[in-house]
Amino acid sequence: MTANDAESLVANAAGDGAGAAGEAERGFSVALTQDQKDIREWVHGFAERTVRPAAAEWDEREETPWPVIQEAAKIGLYGYEALAQFWYDESGLMMPIVNEELFWGDGGIGMSIMGTSLAVAAIFGQGTPEQSAEWIPQCFGSEEAPDVAAFCSSEPDAGSDVAAIRTSARYDEAKDEWVLNGQKAWATNGGIAKVHVVIASVDRELGARGHAAFVVPPGSDGLEQGAKVRKHGLRASHTADVHLDDCRVPGSCLLGGRERLDERLARAREGKRAKSQAAMQTFETSRPTVGAQALGIARAAYEYALEYAKQRVQFGRPIVENQAIAFTLANMKLELDAARLLVWRAAWMGRNGIAFENAEGSMSKLKSGEVAVWVTERAMQILGGNGYTREYPVERMHRDAKIYDIFEGTAEIQRLVIARAISGMQIR
Ligand SMILES: Cc1cc2nc3c(=O)[nH]c(=O)nc-3n(C[C@H](O)[C@H](O)[C@H](O)COP(=O)(O)OP(=O)(O)OC[C@H]3O[C@@H](n4cnc5c(N)ncnc54)[C@H](O)[C@@H]3O)c2cc1C
Repeated sequence: MTANDAESLVANAAGDGAGAAGEAERGFSVALTQDQKDIREWVHGFAERTVRPAAAEWDEREETPWPVIQEAAKIGLYGYEALAQFWYDESGLMMPIVNEELFWGDGGIGMSIMGTSLAVAAIFGQGTPEQSAEWIPQCFGSEEAPDVAAFCSSEPDAGSDVAAIRTSARYDEAKDEWVLNGQKAWATNGGIAKVHVVIASVDRELGARGHAAFVVPPGSDGLEQGAKVRKHGLRASHTADVHLDDCRVPGSCLLGGRERLDERLARAREGKRAKSQAAMQTFETSRPTVGAQALGIARAAYEYALEYAKQRVQFGRPIVENQAIAFTLANMKLELDAARLLVWRAAWMGRNGIAFENAEGSMSKLKSGEVAVWVTERAMQILGGNGYTREYPVERMHRDAKIYDIFEGTAEIQRLVIARAISGMQIR
């Protein structure tokens, strides 16, 4: 793909997605098109044949499963064109469908494949069409040699409290360069990524309104990986600190450009309402997709538990014939389907430019995360002692699910966002 092709794809996708016109034309429907069904089946096949069989190994190794990423790139599931195609779907449902199927295969490997999309969402959401065309393809590398990208917002003292970010960006007028300094924490793909997107403060007095997003190009001096984090779950996905020590990037790496930043800072200094904040905007649009990942993990655990309950005989009958087990499975299915409806609604709203007036994005992620933790825990219970061992996959699924209560806004923060949206009050 040439830069021009990439640029026109980005422009088409951006132009087509936004605005109230879409709202009137495209109603919400859960009836999938043939195209959506075909893609779902295709991703499911990859998850079943390639991801699932590799899951336990990469979980134990706690390493990025490059061969699996390469396979995904080879079949066209990992790459810029694939993401553009999923995004281009006007209903907005393709992204959650793809994510649910992939994470049904495995959470850790799923994140190693989809972790790049958070950086891509930041570039796409905040960059100019030219910046998207330049950087997004580089996030993925090539089919033969795929790369990953990282989105670095969190810091040791700035997790939920995004406004507390200390990483600074200073503009060096003489050289037309931005100079980044600070420490980022828990960055998915941090340090191993080709492209890093870094949220930094250009004016600390303005809190989150003084933040901007920067692309740190491959091979930039002054960016180094810090400690790799050893985790409870999603262990096939690399998470690490990132250190920025006088890291210089060209002026053109400021996403959205200088003029837009200056306008935004001027509005903030005059005390006018902000249209968006760099990190928050990225999280808001990605929440339904993240919810779909949690759903994929949970659905896998539910399906495994259902089959197990039909096979496992105690007291002379399959355990599923006991209401205690069958009703639990019924509730698991009920919660999964309810969460999916919230995810699909939010994805449709996001794609069609409909404002999340009641924090529908947060609702979808909150519900899916909590459902995933509960469903995977119940799956372990249904498997009894086997559920607690690493010989059976539900133990890993439960470990993988827990992060969905925590990252991209904890459950408490999602409730805060929803409470503020519905009340219009400054709930603390
Ligand atoms: C595996 C993994 C991958 C990650 N990937 C990325 C990434 O790619 N990029 C990135 O930037 N970050 C990433 N993160 C960081 C993640 O987004 C943060 O961990 C998360 O936002 C929570 O921040 P924290 O850990 O500092 O918790 P804290 O903010 O310290 O919260 C601790 C507890 O206090 C609660 N709490 C905090 N404030 C309030 C409040 N006002 N009201 C009620 N309760 C409150 C929280 O809900 C939580 O229960 C990742 C983290 C992990 C573990």
